[in-house]
Amino acid sequence: GEALAVSARVAPLGSRLVLLLVEDLTEARRIEAVRRDFVANVSHELKTPVGALSLLSEAVMDASDDPEAVQRFAGRMQIEATRLTNLVQELIDLSRVQNDDPLEDAEPVRVDELVAEAIDRCRHQAGTKQITMAAGGTADLHVWGNRGQLAAALGNLVENAVNYSPARTRVGIAARRVNAPGGDQIELAVTDQGIGISDKDKERIFERFYRVDPARSRQTGGTGLGLAIVKHVVASHGGEVTVWSAENQGSTFTLRLPEAGMARDRAQQHPDLD
Ligand code: ADP
Repeated sequence: GEALAVSARVAPLGSRLVLLLVEDLTEARRIEAVRRDFVANVSHELKTPVGALSLLSEAVMDASDDPEAVQRFAGRMQIEATRLTNLVQELIDLSRVQNDDPLEDAEPVRVDELVAEAIDRCRHQAGTKQITMAAGGTADLHVWGNRGQLAAALGNLVENAVNYSPARTRVGIAARRVNAPGGDQIELAVTDQGIGISDKDKERIFERFYRVDPARSRQTGGTGLGLAIVKHVVASHGGEVTVWSAENQGSTFTLRLPEAGMARDRAQQHPDLD
């Protein structure tokens, strides 16, 4: 009687174990496929500029008696070299955000500084397109996290807003504190009046190397890794990123990150400071 009861108890457990094993194998296979795709994508992305550089250097040699052509080819070589540098830098950034624990170096980070840094990073590009950048609500807000990673995440969003917008439009960055059950959060919203993103593409833009329009992205020096970096940074900080967009109207990317509760902490540590 007892043996039967035991086996009756073990049997469902056993089948659940088998199920778990099967699920584990499927997950392992999926991860393996993602890794293989990634390596294939990296190889392809590296081959493009390297191939162009090789062709262009041949062209330079053939055109040695035509200084104007040499100039032209050299200019294009510079563009390809920059592309290659960007790609390698973004690959390094991505591997860093995937492997490092960002909260090891976590500290309160001033939102106004993050925003100023992100704007600075795009100032040149925005200037050439006469895009106005404006920020609001950033005063006295602090997020809790890794400064470098947070700067990379916000910088990528602002860079995209500028890159995927026509000339003479506006990019806005708005910050505010939101009350959340698990502790207050800081919301950072980057809004553009750009080309927008279709519902179908919205689901995929956070994937590594996914680009709605590879030709356009390449033109702006895009690598397809920016939003993958954003997603990782936000996830490892216990935050989230969401996107609202309407085609040909614009997009808003919103980050939610844990607040550093500076005001409160400071008041508690130095009650006389206030
Ligand atoms: P990229 O280096 O190509 O910009 P990202 O990972 O940053 O790569 O973005 C992935 C794709 O999402 C872009 O190629 C672009 O098609 C789309 N995208 C990102 N941000 C915006 C935006 N603000 N407006 C319109 N499309 C965007």
